[in-house]
Amino acid sequence: MSIQLLPEEVASQIAAGEVIERPASVVKELLENALDASAASIIIRVEKAGQRLIEIADDGEGIRMEEIPLALARHATSKLSSADDLMRIQSLGFRGEALASIASVSKMTLTSRTREFDFGGRMQVEAGKPGELEKIGAPAGTVVRVEDLFFNLPARLKFLKKDVTERRAINGLVTRYALAYPSVRMQLFHDNRAVLQTSGNGDPREVLASLYGVDVARQMLEVVLEDGGIMLTGFTSPVSSTRSNRREITFFVNGRRVQDVTLITALMQAYHTLLMVGRYPMAVLFLKIPPEEVDVNVHPTKAEVRFRNSDRIFSTVQRGVRRAILAYSPIPQVTTGPFSAWQQEANQNSFNPAWTTGVEPNQTSRMDEVESSLRAPVQPEISPEKVPLLRLVGQVGATYLVAEGPDGLYLIDQHAAHERVLYERFQHQLAGADIPSQALLVPETIQLSPEHSVLLESHLAAMNEFGFLIEPFGQNTYRVRSIPALFGDGDPLLAVRAVVEDIEEDETPLSAELEGRLIARICKRMAVKGGQSLTGDEQQTLLRDLEMCESPRSCPHGRPTMIHLSVDLLERQFGRRGSR
Ligand code: ADP
Ligand code: MG
Repeated sequence: MSIQLLPEEVASQIAAGEVIERPASVVKELLENALDASAASIIIRVEKAGQRLIEIADDGEGIRMEEIPLALARHATSKLSSADDLMRIQSLGFRGEALASIASVSKMTLTSRTREFDFGGRMQVEAGKPGELEKIGAPAGTVVRVEDLFFNLPARLKFLKKDVTERRAINGLVTRYALAYPSVRMQLFHDNRAVLQTSGNGDPREVLASLYGVDVARQMLEVVLEDGGIMLTGFTSPVSSTRSNRREITFFVNGRRVQDVTLITALMQAYHTLLMVGRYPMAVLFLKIPPEEVDVNVHPTKAEVRFRNSDRIFSTVQRGVRRAILAYSPIPQVTTGPFSAWQQEANQNSFNPAWTTGVEPNQTSRMDEVESSLRAPVQPEISPEKVPLLRLVGQVGATYLVAEGPDGLYLIDQHAAHERVLYERFQHQLAGADIPSQALLVPETIQLSPEHSVLLESHLAAMNEFGFLIEPFGQNTYRVRSIPALFGDGDPLLAVRAVVEDIEEDETPLSAELEGRLIARICKRMAVKGGQSLTGDEQQTLLRDLEMCESPRSCPHGRPTMIHLSVDLLERQFGRRGSR
């Protein structure tokens, strides 16, 4: 084949592939355009998860009628005129590609009017083919209507994720932009149902409350740090309120949402030693950096940026967040000792606890020696699954039970132990087909983020099979009427949050495996915590319940519930016997 210039239509479809991957990309580009046009109010309507319709209406500056065809053309922008401008971009857009790209893969109608004229214009483009420009009456501002996205790209259409996934991506996106622009009033509707509304009164904490619920908003710590031209503001969670993944960590750089490893690492550094393994904070952080210090022209979707001086940015984020955490919350004591390394190892080998893996310890220091002797006796003298009858001695540090067995001392992690007990009961009841459920005296309501709401909604039926009774109760709000009886007086809302988090990690539909994981997650949340002092009776009961378990030695997540110090070990440690 001879070399030919691609027809414009094909070229723009190829370009569109980079920018417009999915419905959420359309929402992102149109939302950014509305924000660039200084809109005070933005209304987003989505139908069928964006496949049928995405419409964004703003009350911003508008486009003059005669410029509408240009706005829809490729490489046409009002935000940039020379290559030099690329060095100091203040707007979200600058590539002049979005409208053309979207128009080439959908049926798009753009309607716009500027305030200087009392008439506006409208133009339709179908699969990149422009229609007539019409003169019409319209409110000031711009409405972009995108119908039948990817109708001309069947391949792309086939690769779209499930509706739930797409809706969630859209909700997550709009939620975060709403936080970054608290002075802009935003509304989001899915199939005519309002899922997100902000007042636009400029108070970011109010936006937090309307998006994540009042409880979360109240807890979040405010971050403010200025350092030589770099300004860091936003919110981050206290160490007590964490997530099982990084999805609730969001950074904005100069009003643009970015994905950047440096920034996330800096945030995690700020929490160093304060979070349990596998837990992440929630954070929405905004960096204002002189535009010439950051290169935004790295990637077509503009989600990546390059910092001229990334060490300074790193340090600002790390210090700013650390300061916020320290100022507001007491730091739990972190002790290191022979147990911690052992514990960590057990964590890494989850579902495969250290005592069954026979890991060879390296014997280089005194500390390691203690560790290795700790490990050695764990080679089970008794059956690895069961524990012998134990005599309760008491509770240490409101976190561990101390018990005596025929062959030495047992330290039991009360949280892990309770988790195991709840888990086995739950499984047992589930196998018996009926999970006794207990009505709450006062039903509790919980507000979720629009993103999480989509997830819970799609799993309500499954939850109700688990012995919960949860009903939709207004916008992103749910009312919990009953919980599985075995949780007694545990906090029902914790259970609901646990479930949502779990579904978030794996969106495949409820399979047997997921069911087990979900139950494990709920039990983890409902179990007594470390640091909670238990009465003698409660300690006794927990110990007896644990003894009855099928696999009492590890929690459902694979961490050990107990550490066994055998008589043999004690004797060696005290120098009564052995090599000393
Ligand atoms: P970019 O945002 O990179 O400039 P777009 O293709 O998204 O490219 O938009 C092209 C141009 O159309 C913009 O530069 C702007 O002038 C105009 N435009 C797009 N959307 C709007 C809007 N909602 N309000 C006012 N002008 C808009
Ligand atoms: Mg744009």
